[in-house]
Amino acid sequence: MTMIGLEIHCQLTNLNSKLFCSCKANYREFEINENICPICMGLPGSLPRLNQEAVKKATIIAMALNCSTPEKIAFFRKNYFYPDSPKNFQTTQLNIYGDTSVGGTGSIMVGDKKIRITRIQLEEDPGRLIYEGSSSKNQITLVDYNRAGTPLVEIVTEPDFETPKEVRDFLNILSDILTNLGVADPSLEGAMRADANISIEGGKKVEIKNIGSFHDLEKATHFEITRQESLHSRDIEIIQETRHWDDKRKITVSSRSKEEELDYRYFLEGDIPWIKMDPEIHKKLQTQMPESIRSKKERYITKYNIPAQVADVLSSDKYYSDLFEESHTETNAKEVANIITTDLMGLVDTREKREASKFTATHLKELADSIQSGKVSRNSSKNALHEILKTGKDLTTVISELDLGNVSDESELSGIVSQVIKEESQAVEQAKSNPQTINFLVGKVMQKTKGKADPILTLELLKKQIGI
Ligand SMILES: [Zn+2]
Repeated sequence: MTMIGLEIHCQLTNLNSKLFCSCKANYREFEINENICPICMGLPGSLPRLNQEAVKKATIIAMALNCSTPEKIAFFRKNYFYPDSPKNFQTTQLNIYGDTSVGGTGSIMVGDKKIRITRIQLEEDPGRLIYEGSSSKNQITLVDYNRAGTPLVEIVTEPDFETPKEVRDFLNILSDILTNLGVADPSLEGAMRADANISIEGGKKVEIKNIGSFHDLEKATHFEITRQESLHSRDIEIIQETRHWDDKRKITVSSRSKEEELDYRYFLEGDIPWIKMDPEIHKKLQTQMPESIRSKKERYITKYNIPAQVADVLSSDKYYSDLFEESHTETNAKEVANIITTDLMGLVDTREKREASKFTATHLKELADSIQSGKVSRNSSKNALHEILKTGKDLTTVISELDLGNVSDESELSGIVSQVIKEESQAVEQAKSNPQTINFLVGKVMQKTKGKADPILTLELLKKQIGI
């Protein structure tokens, strides 16, 4: 049996400042080593000051993952000497002296399977090492401390995963939950990183570190399981070790270096007092929490009669559900859901495309209402959507510029309808005895108008002229 446990590091990307100082949490917008101060550099005499918002956001994550939340939290020093750590220790949390991390045990459902969460801790991210040089002999390492001290949440799971696919499904769900909470943006480069523990057939546990993306995490677990199975089948002992994920070669590599075998000498961070978590704060956070994905999905199904599969897609992606919430009305909800899941999804499936898109909830509402009122056909609405995404122009302008509007002028359409009635006398007779067959005649009018006849008006005129 395969057992996989995960440690997921997730940056709290929606905060203004770092975890213990007022440098910016968004380190990405700075030149190298511009976003630093004496506190995050650990200079003598500087004192940390805890970012309250970070504690709240980490607590919200703990609540969303059904974790227990302790009455008091504390911070510890994890001592290690490595160039990415300017202070020579990382300020983090630890549960060995009682539950003092922001989140205790919890769980989330992945399909029918319960994945147990061991704990959730709040800690600071280290700096970033940049490797340069053309050969192994000529290697130099540069360090950028802009990231040092930015808030990170570590989510630790029990070894409940049995396959790389379960890992992937869990990460997708986790990623949707974090985005929905508005605390993190997993699509940002480096915002999610992970370590994995893997053992097979009750053997020794191998830890894989340094996995830089969710995509690679699935690949890394897959590679490691195959490696261990191959050793196992040849009766070669699997040794307990730490391996690194080499994302260029897509393999795990044994890390024999001495600095990996560390004694972290954890001790309580004396510069930050214990923080009492008032039950009132927990209650308040609970009420401020955004509606869960599950509850959104149920609401879409029961209130608007949206099919379960569509509701699933709509609710799990915050970008789509926000668009839906801002643009739907009692009457157009199904049409809005339809436009998002059949037309829009393929056009804005990446972060870059979403950022470049000029499409807004107002556009979406106009589009749905115009389809429903017969102003534009569903077919033409797709072309209009393309144009709006590119230009951000309003729908009426796009319809007139691209001549996408339906023929809804009664006298013009009336003429086309009488022409069709003349040409299709047999079908007209049939429609008189069986009104269902009138759709054939609607189709003929559509053909003549290249799909631009207002379908509601067409049907009305056909019935009127035939006399049914
Ligand atoms: Zn700082």
